[in-house]
Amino acid sequence: MNEFVHLHLHTIHSPLDGMAKIKELILKAKSMGQASFAITDHGNMSGLYQAQKLADELDFKIINGCEFYYERLDEEKKNGHLLVLAKNNIGLRNLFRLQHEACTTNFYKKPRVNFEMLKKHSEGLVVTSTCLASEFNQRLLKGDTQGAIEWARKYQEVFHDDFYIEIQPNSMAEQHLVNKSAIRIAKQLNISIIATNDVHYANQEDAYAHEVLFAMQFKKKMSDPDRFKIGTDDFWLKSETEMRDSFQGMDEAIINEALSTTKEIADKCDSRIEKGKYLPKFYNIPDGETERSLLAKEIKVGSKVKGFNKNKSYMKDVQHELNVVDGEGYSGYFLIVQDYVAEAKKNGVVVGDGRGSGAGSKIAYLTDITEIEPSEFDLLFERFMAVGRIPDFDVDFSDQMSVFRDLQSKYGKDNVARIITFGKLTPRSVIRKVLTTFEFNMSEIIAITKLVPDLCPTLERAYILEPQLLKYKERYPNEWKVIERLEGGIAHEGTHAGGAIICPGLRDILPLKYDRKEDMLIACFDKKILEELGHYKFDVLGLETLPIIRRILDSIEYSTGEKIKLSEINYEDQEVYDMLCKGDVSGVFQLSAQATKVIEQQPRNFRDLIAINALIRPGVGDWDEYLARRQGKPWSVYEPRMPYMKETVGTMTYQEQYLLDAHVLAGWGIAYADQHIRKNKDIRNDAELATKFMYDAVEMNGHPHQEMTKVWLEIMDAVDGGYGFNKSHSASYGRTSYQTAYLKCKYPEHFYASLMSGEKTDGDGQNAIAGYIAECKQRNIKILPPHINNSGEYFVVNDNGINYRITTIKHVGDSAIKHINELRPMASFDEFMERREKKYIKKNVMMNLIKAGTFDFDNPNRAELLWKFDMSQRTKTQVKENHLCETYIWDDEVKCKWEKEVLGMYLSVHPMERYGFQPLDYYKEGHSCVQGGEVVTVHEFHPQKNTKKPKMAFIQVNTLYGMIKLVVFASIWARLSIQEAFTINNLVLIKGKRSNNDVLVDGVEVLKGESRGEEESTS
Ligand SMILES: [Zn+2]
Ligand SMILES: [Zn+2]
Repeated sequence: MNEFVHLHLHTIHSPLDGMAKIKELILKAKSMGQASFAITDHGNMSGLYQAQKLADELDFKIINGCEFYYERLDEEKKNGHLLVLAKNNIGLRNLFRLQHEACTTNFYKKPRVNFEMLKKHSEGLVVTSTCLASEFNQRLLKGDTQGAIEWARKYQEVFHDDFYIEIQPNSMAEQHLVNKSAIRIAKQLNISIIATNDVHYANQEDAYAHEVLFAMQFKKKMSDPDRFKIGTDDFWLKSETEMRDSFQGMDEAIINEALSTTKEIADKCDSRIEKGKYLPKFYNIPDGETERSLLAKEIKVGSKVKGFNKNKSYMKDVQHELNVVDGEGYSGYFLIVQDYVAEAKKNGVVVGDGRGSGAGSKIAYLTDITEIEPSEFDLLFERFMAVGRIPDFDVDFSDQMSVFRDLQSKYGKDNVARIITFGKLTPRSVIRKVLTTFEFNMSEIIAITKLVPDLCPTLERAYILEPQLLKYKERYPNEWKVIERLEGGIAHEGTHAGGAIICPGLRDILPLKYDRKEDMLIACFDKKILEELGHYKFDVLGLETLPIIRRILDSIEYSTGEKIKLSEINYEDQEVYDMLCKGDVSGVFQLSAQATKVIEQQPRNFRDLIAINALIRPGVGDWDEYLARRQGKPWSVYEPRMPYMKETVGTMTYQEQYLLDAHVLAGWGIAYADQHIRKNKDIRNDAELATKFMYDAVEMNGHPHQEMTKVWLEIMDAVDGGYGFNKSHSASYGRTSYQTAYLKCKYPEHFYASLMSGEKTDGDGQNAIAGYIAECKQRNIKILPPHINNSGEYFVVNDNGINYRITTIKHVGDSAIKHINELRPMASFDEFMERREKKYIKKNVMMNLIKAGTFDFDNPNRAELLWKFDMSQRTKTQVKENHLCETYIWDDEVKCKWEKEVLGMYLSVHPMERYGFQPLDYYKEGHSCVQGGEVVTVHEFHPQKNTKKPKMAFIQVNTLYGMIKLVVFASIWARLSIQEAFTINNLVLIKGKRSNNDVLVDGVEVLKGESRGEEESTS
C-alpha cells in the first residue's frame, strides 16, 4: 500500500545543496510506486516548470512548493526555514508573490518571508512547521516550548487545516528531541502531523557525494575537520517502508497517521504553471490609435525624411513588411524596440546596427532601428521575419544598463526582468571542483581537465573522445564516483547577457529574484522556458567596442567642440581604406587580429568590408578563390546572377546570395526559399526540392538547364557545408568596423586614448597598451605622463599628446585619487605638497606620483622633486647635520626605470630607442631578421601536449614598435644559455626568420640584464 508522498524535497535547483536531478527523482519515486512529490527548493522555484514538463511526460504529479528563508523572531541574526506548498493556482501565484516580496523588501543575507507576509498572501497555501532550521523547532530546542506553541497557534489561526506539524526520521539527536515535543504540541493543538525526509539526493549511497558537494558550497577541503557537515546521511528519496523503518521506536499509530497525511495533502494540491501570450503592448499609444496605425505613422515619417515616400516599388515592399509584422502581432514589438533605440540615441548611447538579421528590414531602417538601407546591399526582410516566424532584433548598446532603466521607467520596475542562466557543473568544472576539494595538486588537476575536449557536454561523451580520462577514473575510483554523480548539477546562477522580458504582473506568474546592485528583477526560468511559456525576449546587448567609440566621440567633442554623427560620416572615404590596406587595423572592430587577410584583400569600399566580415569567420566562403579572383583570375557567373554575385567576385559567401538565386532564377518567394533551402538540414538528399528548383528555373523561367544544374550544386554545397553567412549581420558589423577605422584614421589621438582606456590593468592589458604606445610613437603622437590636474581613470588627449591615466600608478588607490580630485587644480608641486593630507597621500604615494611624472608641468626634473620631498620628510636636526649626502641623478635611464617601476610601462623613453633596430615588417616574409626588445613573457610547453617531446617556447618581446611573438623550437630551447638569455626584463637581440608577425628564433644575445650561465653573450 502506498500512502506516503515526499513533501519536502530539494533538487539541483538548490545550488550546491540539493544534488538530485528532477528526472532521476521522478523515475525512482515511480519505481517505488509513488505517484507524486513536492519540490521545495531553498528560496528558489526555478526547477518547477521543468519538473512539470517531465511529470507530464512521465505520468507523474508535481506539487509546487518552496522552502523559503524565514525571518525568525526568536533570533534576529539567523535566518530560518519555512516550507510552503501550493494547493491551487492561487496558491502558486502567492508563492511567486512571496518570493518577489522577500527578495525586494525583506532581504537579509537571503530573501526572507515572515508571518505578516504569509498572512497577506495566505490563500491557497499549505504551511508546515518545517525542519530543524525553522523558528518552531529552534524554539523547542532552546526549551522555549511556550514560544513554539504560540508560533504554531498563529499559523493555525491563519491556515487552519492547511497548517501541519512536520516530523523527520533522520538520525540527528536534535531531531529526535523536537519530534517528541512537536508531536505533543500537535496533539494539544489538534494539528495534523506529517512525516517528511528533507530529500537532498536520490539514493542512500549518494550521501557521500552530497557531503563533497556541501564542502564545495562552503569552499572547504574534505580534510578540513571544521567544515560544516549535515550530521546525517538520511536525506535520500526513501520508500514508504524505509520511512516507516527509520521512525522505529516511535508510536506506530502516530507514524502511520503522519505518513498517510502526506497523501491527503498531495491529493488536495493541484497547481500548474500556465502558458500564455505575454508579448507586451507598446506603453504609449495615443487615443484613437492602434499599434498598427502608430507604426504606419512612424514609417511614413521615416520614408519622407529618407526620401523613399515617392518610390512606389519601395513603398510596396514596406507595405508588405507591415502586413507581415502586424499580421503576426508584432507591431507593438517594433514600436517598443524603436522607442528604446531612439531613447538611447537621444541620450548619447552608441547603438550598433543590430546583430543577426534585423538589418534586412526596410521598416527597421525607416524607423531608425537600423541605419543600413537594406535594398542597397541586397539584405532580405524574409531572412529576418516571415509568417509564422518570430522576429528578433539583437541590438548592441554602449550602455546596456541605461536601456534597462528606460524600460523600467516606461513599463514599471515590476514588469521588466532580466533572465537567469544556470552555471552547470560541466565535465571540466566538476572534475576541477571535486579534485580541488580533495586537495589534488594543481598541475595534476590541470593535466586531467585539459584532457576534456572543449565544450564537451557530458563525461560520457568525453570518455569516447578522450579515452585517457578512463585511466584517471580507474586510478581515482572514489573521487571519480563523486565526479560522475555531481556532473550536470548547478554550481551557480548568473544573468543572461542581454535578454529581458517585459510583462505586466510578472510577480504573479513567474519566480523572480532581485539584483540589488542593479535594482533589476531577474526571471528565474531560463530563456528557453520563458519563450515556451509565451514570453518574448528582448535582446539588449552590450558590445565592448561601443563604449570605446562613445569615449572617442566624447573626447573629440571635449577637445574640439566637434559633434560627430556616425550615421552621417562618409562610408566610402578612400583615406580610411588606404589605411586599412596597409594592414593598419589594431583596434578596428572585428579586424584587429586580421591584418594579413585585410592586406590580402585590399578593401576599397564598404562592400569589401561587409565581405571580409563574413570571410574571416571559420568555414565561411572560399577565401583563396575569392582572393585569386580579386587579383585577376578570370571568372564568370550566369548573367542574371551578376547583380548580387559581383561584389564577392562570383563566390558564394552570403546566405542571401543563394536565397536570391532561388528567387531570381526559380521565382520562389524568399520566405519559401529560406524555409526550404537555408533551413534544410538534408538538402543533398532532397531530390524533390532539386527537381522543383530545376523545373521552376528551366521550364517555368526559361533558364538554361546546364547553368541551373551548376547553380543548384553551388547552393547545395553552400547550405550543406554551412559556408554561407548572414549578410545582414556582416553588414551591421561592417558598419562598426568602418566607424572604428574612420575614427582611427581621422582622430588617431582620441582613438588611441580611448582604446588604451578600455584596457585592463592586468598583464594582458599592459601588453596591449605597450603595443599601442609603440604605434602612437610611429604616428608621432606623444604619450605623456599622467598630470596631477587633468588625469583620471582614462587616457586624456591634450594639445601635445595623450596623458597616461593616473589611476594605475602603483600604490595610488581610490582614496588618494578622491583626495587629489578635491584639491584640483594645483598650480605647482609646492602647492600640492602644502595642501595634501598625509593620511591620503602617504609617502609611497607621493614618491610614485613624482616618479610617474604627474608634476612635469611644474618641473620636469623628477629627481629634483624627489629630493625636495625627501628634504621635507627629514627632521630639522637631520637637515642641519647634513644627511643629504645622496645625489639624485636625473637622465633618460632613470626616467625609464622609474616609469617602468610605477606605471609598469615605458612612456617617455623606450629602452630600445638607443639601439636603432628596424621594425619587423622592414624584413621580407620568411627572410632572416634581427630584432631587439625587452622580454615580457615566456611560455614553455611540450609540443602537441606530448610530455615525451622536448619543450619549446613562445616568448613575448616588447620592441620599440610594439609586441612581437618569438617561437623557439625545441632544438634551440634545449640550450641553457638560450633559456637564460630569455629571462624576463632582459633586453635582448634576437636573430631569426620572420614568419608573419612572429620571429622563428635562431639565436639570441643579451644586451642588458641577467645572464647567469655562460658569459658568452653579455659583452
Ligand atoms: Zn530546511
Ligand atoms: Zn529542506
